[in-house]
Amino acid sequence: MQSGAIRPIPNMLPRKLFTSDHEAFRETVRKFYEKEVVPNIEKYEQQQHVDRDLWNKAGELGLLCTTMPEEYGGSGVDRLYSMILIEEQAYAMDSSTGFSLHSDIVANYINNFGNDAQKQQWLPKMATGEAVTAIAMTEPGTGSDLQAVRTTAVLDGDEYVINGSKIFITNGYLCDMAIVVCKTGNNEKGSANLSLIIVEADRAGFSKGKPLNKIGMKGQDTCELFFDDVRVPKANLLGMEGMGFMMLMKELAWERMLVAIICQAGAEAAFAHTVQYTKDRKAFGKAIGTFQNTRFKLAELRTEIDFCRTYLDRCMELQLEENLGVDAAAAAKYKISDMFSKVVDECLQLHGGYGYMLEYPIARAYIDNRANRIYAGTNEIMKELISRTL
Ligand SMILES: Cc1cc2nc3c(=O)[nH]c(=O)nc-3n(C[C@H](O)[C@H](O)[C@H](O)COP(=O)(O)OP(=O)(O)OC[C@H]3O[C@@H](n4cnc5c(N)ncnc54)[C@H](O)[C@@H]3O)c2cc1C
Repeated sequence: MQSGAIRPIPNMLPRKLFTSDHEAFRETVRKFYEKEVVPNIEKYEQQQHVDRDLWNKAGELGLLCTTMPEEYGGSGVDRLYSMILIEEQAYAMDSSTGFSLHSDIVANYINNFGNDAQKQQWLPKMATGEAVTAIAMTEPGTGSDLQAVRTTAVLDGDEYVINGSKIFITNGYLCDMAIVVCKTGNNEKGSANLSLIIVEADRAGFSKGKPLNKIGMKGQDTCELFFDDVRVPKANLLGMEGMGFMMLMKELAWERMLVAIICQAGAEAAFAHTVQYTKDRKAFGKAIGTFQNTRFKLAELRTEIDFCRTYLDRCMELQLEENLGVDAAAAAKYKISDMFSKVVDECLQLHGGYGYMLEYPIARAYIDNRANRIYAGTNEIMKELISRTL
């Protein structure tokens, strides 16, 4: 299997976000993907999850929970480090590792809303890779409409008793802990019924399905979780009862940015591979890259990629200032994931029949990219959010 990024992306507009410290970190991440991940992608795809010890290796190098405070095992650095981690994953054309969900979503919930005991219990273990984590919102009966969640958590003395099931849960198969969105109330206003509860994977009654058979991202661990009278102490409640929806909203802009970042870098990687391919592949006695159609297609794609990159980096600046609006993040998520789908489709076409063969990175990018328009809020929901601000 061919893999790994061709870099740099030819003649993109220069970026201004990173310092030399960021670039040094990028080098560490790039080497990690080259050495530990890329050679194993086929194996991960076959077993439908990464090796468990990959998490520990990433933890040893400081690649997990980097933005968490140092007192809780993180490096206390800015979110550009998260951006770099995601970009290097995309440049390596890997879709197996679920680090970002663990470090940039689950860890934030614990850090933002957990009490000191919860932070002490989970964040250091998450930073070393000793604990793998997931966030379980979606259910067989509901995804976009979170207020319709049916998994219940009922107080019985000092314990919650949880019943229900969750589906499509990233890191679900290997997880040691999941933050589970549960219904704890019977309020008229659906959003006031939801709470976030920390559930350890070894609790009696908690079981995991087999990894789900997805069309792409086959190396990424995605599975169902089942809760059958699972008892957890009341102390496992994150934040306050009934405040789950509000807590989920707090970092939504950032969670959408994570998808936009992976799509932007994924498009750049697919484009770079394709430029190289069109230089190497010959038809009618010349490189296919010399045909006007190829040159114009590549010119159009590069223009779209450059425009999106500029918008995304501006959103990232606003994110760092904590001024990024939900609408701007929603626009980045929907526009850049749409752009990524278009880029991989056009790039696959330029590969001819080889683009349809899985040993070519463009074929994997084509099938892997599709989920980005669905998760972290579908692109239709993104448009809903933008339209509400008009
Ligand atoms: C690979 C993968 C990983 C995932 N990881 C996780 C995870 O870690 N944790 C987790 O909790 N979930 C996860 N999900 C679930 C994902 O977030 C949901 O699939 C997504 O939110 C959509 O929900 P749904 O599948 O129920 O679709 P539905 O909500 O049933 O939507 C079906 C269609 O209806 C449209 N639609 C729905 N409501 C509206 C509306 N109001 N206006 C217009 N159109 C609408 C949608 O846009 C979509 O096109 C993952 C999904 C995938 C594919």
